[in-house]
Amino acid sequence: MSNLTKNFFIGLSNNRILNENAKKWGFRLGADKFVAGTNMESVADTVKELNKQGICCTLDHLGEFVTEKKEALEAKDECIHILEKIHEDSLDCHLSVKLTQLGLDIDQSFCMENMKEILAVADRYDLFINIDMEDYSHYQQTLDVLKQLREEYKNVGTVIQSYLFRTQEDLEELKDVRLRLVKGAYKESADVAYQDKRDIDKNFLNIAKQRLLGDAFTSIATHDHMIISELKDFIKENNVSKDKFEFQMLYGFRNDMQFGLAEEGYNFCTYIPFGTDWFGYFMRRLAERPQNMNLVLKDTFYTRDNKLKKEPLIAGGLAAGTLLLMLGRKKKVK
Ligand SMILES: Cc1cc2nc3c(=O)[nH]c(=O)nc-3n(C[C@H](O)[C@H](O)[C@H](O)COP(=O)(O)OP(=O)(O)OC[C@H]3O[C@@H](n4cnc5c(N)ncnc54)[C@H](O)[C@@H]3O)c2cc1C
Repeated sequence: MSNLTKNFFIGLSNNRILNENAKKWGFRLGADKFVAGTNMESVADTVKELNKQGICCTLDHLGEFVTEKKEALEAKDECIHILEKIHEDSLDCHLSVKLTQLGLDIDQSFCMENMKEILAVADRYDLFINIDMEDYSHYQQTLDVLKQLREEYKNVGTVIQSYLFRTQEDLEELKDVRLRLVKGAYKESADVAYQDKRDIDKNFLNIAKQRLLGDAFTSIATHDHMIISELKDFIKENNVSKDKFEFQMLYGFRNDMQFGLAEEGYNFCTYIPFGTDWFGYFMRRLAERPQNMNLVLKDTFYTRDNKLKKEPLIAGGLAAGTLLLMLGRKKKVK
């Protein structure tokens, strides 16, 4: 995808006003294809269905731009509510959290206290908590918080991004930690991150192989069939035990592959985002994959029974901007 298109959607994902307004719209623009619901009660049914098919889940209660302690405390309470529901319903499921949602930008020690409360409940129910990795400006803080938390709790891990130059160095310190490996979803500068997909993919494969030969558990989180195929060969050639890793994909993406990998006997985990604060997450997904924009256009202008509908002006503007960018992209290819 062109950098222009990627920047456009990353820019939208960071726009506070759009994020705030989107909460009031309810799901729009096809977001319900990638965001499972608004509350834990309805999402529990989705988890149960996936569990029946041999797929475990990790839940993410969406939330962006937390600047008030009150909002962070609400997010922490919601995390605890989710853990209680997972336990009550015996779901095969764990929780993914973002430190900024729990107050990292307000005060690191306040965020740490929130995390400790969550981890104490998770520990009681024998559940794992994964700390999502956000943009590079939060990277070191996330590793620092993780390190401190792991002095008390072992049921916590984080994410490493193969687009960062420093990931390889950080792996040594994280060698005993359960990690999710991803390519990286944010727009990072060429000072800290690879910009070329080939470099990012090469680093992803190197890190994955290194981790698969190590001791700690790794979640290989990608929709990239080329990478998955190469790693499946590596796993067979090296007799890597299936208990040492799982594949992970996002809810709504490549469902056939998700079920296929589970049927082949691999541990598979679906990452399920939910909640009303869907806009930023959805825009980051559009930044990654232009094909998702077809859904935006269809859902913006047509009802389910294919009738033209009226939407908020902003949605039309977004779709029009999208279309222009796509046309611009096509022109370049020609
Ligand atoms: C479970 C999970 C958790 C994540 N957590 C984080 C996180 O904490 N922090 C973070 O920065 N990022 C996170 N990400 C996002 C990640 O960093 C990437 O931005 C995202 O996964 C896109 O990269 P990719 O590996 O899927 O492959 P891409 O490089 O996007 O795709 C590679 C190729 O795969 C194929 N492909 C990809 N998607 C599809 C599709 N839907 N249908 C058909 N073909 C497809 C295409 O051929 C494409 O060219 C997470 C991703 C996953 C899956």
